[in-house]
Amino acid sequence: MGKVIGIDLGTTNSVVAVFEGGEAKTIINQQGHNITPSIVAFSDDGNIVGQIAKNQSITDPTNVIFSIKRLIGRRYFDNQVQSIISSLPFHVSNDELGKIFVETDYGTFSPQEVSAEILRFIKKAAENYLGEIVSEAVITIPAYFDENQREATKEAGELAGLNVKRIINEPTAAALAYGLKSNKREHVIVYDFGGGTFDISVLEIFDDFYEVKSTSGDTFLGGDDFNERIAKWLLDDFRREYGIDLTLIPEALRRIKLESEEAKKTLSTTYEYNINLPFINCDSSGNIPHTIDSGDAAQKVLHINKRLTRKKLEEMTEDLIDRTIGPCQQALNDAGLEIRDIDTVILVGGQTRMPLVQEKVKNFFGKEPSQCVNPDEIVAVGAAIQASVLKNEIRNVTIADITALSLGIETEGGQYTKIIEKNTKIPWVSEKEFTTIVDNQEVVEISVYQGEALEVKDNIKLGNFILEGITLAPAGVPRINVEYCLDENGILTVSARDVDTGVEKKVTISNRVV
Ligand code: ADP
Ligand code: MG
Repeated sequence: MGKVIGIDLGTTNSVVAVFEGGEAKTIINQQGHNITPSIVAFSDDGNIVGQIAKNQSITDPTNVIFSIKRLIGRRYFDNQVQSIISSLPFHVSNDELGKIFVETDYGTFSPQEVSAEILRFIKKAAENYLGEIVSEAVITIPAYFDENQREATKEAGELAGLNVKRIINEPTAAALAYGLKSNKREHVIVYDFGGGTFDISVLEIFDDFYEVKSTSGDTFLGGDDFNERIAKWLLDDFRREYGIDLTLIPEALRRIKLESEEAKKTLSTTYEYNINLPFINCDSSGNIPHTIDSGDAAQKVLHINKRLTRKKLEEMTEDLIDRTIGPCQQALNDAGLEIRDIDTVILVGGQTRMPLVQEKVKNFFGKEPSQCVNPDEIVAVGAAIQASVLKNEIRNVTIADITALSLGIETEGGQYTKIIEKNTKIPWVSEKEFTTIVDNQEVVEISVYQGEALEVKDNIKLGNFILEGITLAPAGVPRINVEYCLDENGILTVSARDVDTGVEKKVTISNRVV
């Protein structure tokens, strides 16, 4: 039996780790890094993944796909999807069912297919390192991912030739990796600030028992927003000085964004950074495009050379960090805890390398957060530990995860009846009995939803199916038993059974919609 690898398939970056010689370690990829940007470039030379794909985004933005995790398992008409597609440089389309696709000059791909490209690259890195074929993996996902997003992630793994042994929640993986183990009951906060999202989770750890008590966060708040602030500062300044709008030159815009990120990262360890972007008003062939203003300045080749201090960066972005505090309070409330009940705070995600983030977290929780050496690698390390638990290489670790969103069914008049409440431990089975609403009703439709709203229209529809062959009887007499079964991956199977006739139908619900 070969190795099972652990994969953090991130929005911005992906990391792979393996458990070897008694410890989990991250693996260096084909490009010499242990962090792989989750970016796929489609090109004449085939598909390119990682840092090289990221560089290619300067010259060929419409064929370079990033942040695909924000689209996976979602529907085109979701508000969240609609709010991001206009700002993406690549083209996002849909079919009549609302399935999402990205369109490139080299073909049309589903989010699962794009993610599978990243996973194939990572699988190859692991194979090069281990010197053997890898066919099994544990993949992490945000705790708040719904059924469709979980199932779609699993499908991406399968497309990449990986048997996905387990899907685990990122905060749980982080806690596992942190090596927290206690003989008293401890409450742990996992504060995860990545590239595109902020997640906060409260876990309870007792012995080797890990349980997520609550999760909260902001799916539209991350390191990218910090980069945007710096980019906007550069663009505004340039416009003021030369009257030129650099956003009209795609190459310039892309270079400014990449350099903004570089400045931000460097300022986590230094106090000053020189932003240097020569020939910024030129396109990729070195010409000044005609699209920009034709004033005097537009005729000259121009450069950006500006100094950014850490203090200035902090002033520009402090409000973004402050926005993480509300969800922290929410997660505590949902877990029924107060700040003084928290024993440990773990920082996860690249953006937590910023000193001001660390300071604000410390101030809120009133204690020094535990610094992990590599906040951007810890989730993958946890996945590798989980992988070794599955192979019985490490014993005595039990992970009790929860479902972050309630699951329910549509009942009369568009009402939503919950069958499994949010924050329920998984695996879990719940059942409820329903009946018919008209006399001699032969069929019932089971519509499955996820969310917390009172009416189904405000929740996420996961799918529906029909149960036929119900006993002919007056309304209210037949007994229809509906069972929701959530497995350890958080994937839902729904079955409906007429108690009197025994007629039954069972559906893995998310398969039907993604
Ligand atoms: P994700 O979970 O979204 O894939 P990561 O945890 O890898 O992302 O975090 C990526 C984010 O962290 C990016 O916005 C990146 O710019 C930021 N980041 C990485 N290193 C640093 C650093 N040294 N200082 C500040 N931010 C950083
Ligand atoms: Mg992450």
